[in-house]
Amino acid sequence: MSNPLLTPIEYLKGVGPKRAEVLTAELGIFRFRDLLYHFPFRYVDRTKYYTIAEIQTFSTEIQVKGKMTSLREIGEGKKKRLIATFQDKTGSVELIWFRTTKWQMDKFRALLQKPIIIYGKPTIFNQKINFTHPEIEEPDSEKATKGLLPVYSNTELAQKKGINNRVFQTMQLEVWKLVGNYIKENLSEQICRVYQLTSRKKAFQHIHFPNSVRELEEAQKRLKFEEFFYLHLSLQTQKAIGKRNFRSHAFKELGTYFNDFYFNHLSFNLTNAQKRVLKEIRANLAKEQQMNRLLQGDVGSGKTIVAFLTMLMAADNGFQSLLMAPTEILAQQHYYGLKEEADKIGFKIALLTGSAKTTDRRIIHEQLENGSLDILVGTHALIEDKVRFKNLGLAIVDEQHRFGVAQRAKLWRKATRPPHILIMTATPIPRTLAMTLYGDLDISIIDELPAGRKPIKTVHRRDKDRLAVFNFIKNEVNKGRQAYIVYPLIDESEKMDYKDLMDGYESITRYFPLPDYAVSVVHGQMKPADKDFEMQRFVKGETQIMVATTVIEVGVNVPNASIMVIESAEKFGLSQLHQLRGRVGRGAEQSYCVLMTGNKLNETAQRRIQTMCETNDGFRIAEVDLELRGPGNVMGTQQSGILDFKIADLQTDKPIFTAAKNAAETLVTKDPQLSQPENASIKEFFIAYHQKKLGWAHIS
Ligand code: ADP
Ligand code: MG
Repeated sequence: MSNPLLTPIEYLKGVGPKRAEVLTAELGIFRFRDLLYHFPFRYVDRTKYYTIAEIQTFSTEIQVKGKMTSLREIGEGKKKRLIATFQDKTGSVELIWFRTTKWQMDKFRALLQKPIIIYGKPTIFNQKINFTHPEIEEPDSEKATKGLLPVYSNTELAQKKGINNRVFQTMQLEVWKLVGNYIKENLSEQICRVYQLTSRKKAFQHIHFPNSVRELEEAQKRLKFEEFFYLHLSLQTQKAIGKRNFRSHAFKELGTYFNDFYFNHLSFNLTNAQKRVLKEIRANLAKEQQMNRLLQGDVGSGKTIVAFLTMLMAADNGFQSLLMAPTEILAQQHYYGLKEEADKIGFKIALLTGSAKTTDRRIIHEQLENGSLDILVGTHALIEDKVRFKNLGLAIVDEQHRFGVAQRAKLWRKATRPPHILIMTATPIPRTLAMTLYGDLDISIIDELPAGRKPIKTVHRRDKDRLAVFNFIKNEVNKGRQAYIVYPLIDESEKMDYKDLMDGYESITRYFPLPDYAVSVVHGQMKPADKDFEMQRFVKGETQIMVATTVIEVGVNVPNASIMVIESAEKFGLSQLHQLRGRVGRGAEQSYCVLMTGNKLNETAQRRIQTMCETNDGFRIAEVDLELRGPGNVMGTQQSGILDFKIADLQTDKPIFTAAKNAAETLVTKDPQLSQPENASIKEFFIAYHQKKLGWAHIS
């Protein structure tokens, strides 16, 4: 018989084509296997029935036997509520539903005065115990739910179509009957023994039908371990493959370009962190094996010069480099910055962005192909297939989280042998996450700012303090400083969002009038040429104030700018606030960041603002961000998809994470090919797992 795990869900008893369609569209359940992997997200304690007299407020959900004695609707429109009185021999409580449908109303009415079981979480309101949105069941419909009752995540639409929790339980029972015996073990006996893991079959059974808390916990541990284990195994193998198989070019020489620049043209001393990172890169490039390195460094830590020196290493060995940035403005800034350095040693560099003229484009293409260009800087335009290099040896990608995986793949194909790859990011990523996300990359960290930088002073001000803030800006501007005033932009395509910005711009120009002051404005809907013009005016110091949306978020470098005012700061995420603040504090002057907010802040917004005021340390900020938002939301994790765990949680399951990592490492060391018979089941599962994830795993 064929493997029933792969049977389309519509063939499950009680499902059929209509429900199957809903299950697929709403919950991504296509096959029996997907249903099995649709784990409960919580459990209701059904080990006993409570009487109403026994009820206090509990942290878990409970079940009570009794009957509804009355049912009434109160309120109008959106405030309409349905309230039922529910009694047993010992007392009565209220059941409350908001937003009820006629269908529900009819159903409840039919149940009046009949014995029922309710389950839900009791709460106290107006000194009365009540249950909000309890689930209701007739006693005779009770099935295999004596122990801990699983509750499945669901969508409103699916519920409307009749797929409620009850139906889920029934489906799980049905599917288990058919597939239970087909659940194959995918860990070795040894791993199960050492890490005290229950069998895979038992784990799946008990995650859906636990008889006790203990069984449930064993099931959870096993399934979480498995998820982390295969992730680690995959990362381990990626790393090994990267190390073993991909031959790039060995940059053996440190030649004239590098030495001349390093000894005669560096305009400052490198920090120790920069030197250390350069050594790491150098050691890596000297070998033929392809470099895949992530260069992490907080904003202002000086990644650009490291990138440039790395390009010189390539040039000394006869290779071209490219640097790819996420936006035109950033590409331009990199270009101008690098050109200044490149000119010192007669190094050829060009800029290629989407807005380049056709003739310029043609010249650049030519020079790239005949090898007279050493460096190409640009945006996505760089990776178009038309752009060909004579001998690309190094690709540097700035702020990689803005680039899709497919774009990185294109880079890979630009040369007969893959170029060395250096990914720069200013987004500090907590250690555990970095390991997980970039397990296939080597990591270099610049953890030191250039000497003489004064820490930025950050303060929180309310809208009512705006005048004082303006006065403060005026004082600083009168001393020769420059200021950014940034407005949030929720949707780049929304015209409405510009209203705040333009209102702000108007009041600022009134407060800072010509001819004594000049104000620039930059936002995402301007033409690139206009944006550029305004940016350049600010960069050259012709304007003192830059009013902008978050287009200036990353990379822009104006050392004379010492004030960053962030309007509606509560609307920004932590990493974005940190990025924005990083635009100042780049010169020798004391810099300031002012976070403007409304009067009312919710708890997380308060925590974000407070964190910003307390620390400048990007890694610390990233930790708080992770804590507040969960790993799935930290910058850079969304696109990757690799943190879409079914059951494991990076934050709360650290011990299991570490155990699984040890297990994977030990296995790869002992049996790298997974060729031992006892590891056959791992190998089989891993190949399938890998095929699914290969999309991201192969790249960079
Ligand atoms: P980021 O890491 O954010 O890309 P940049 O490379 O733009 O930082 O550097 C920020 C500023 O610091 C630039 O003006 C750069 O010239 C300067 N800088 C970089 N390294 C040093 C150093 N070792 N000493 C002094 N200034 C430096
Ligand atoms: Mg930068």
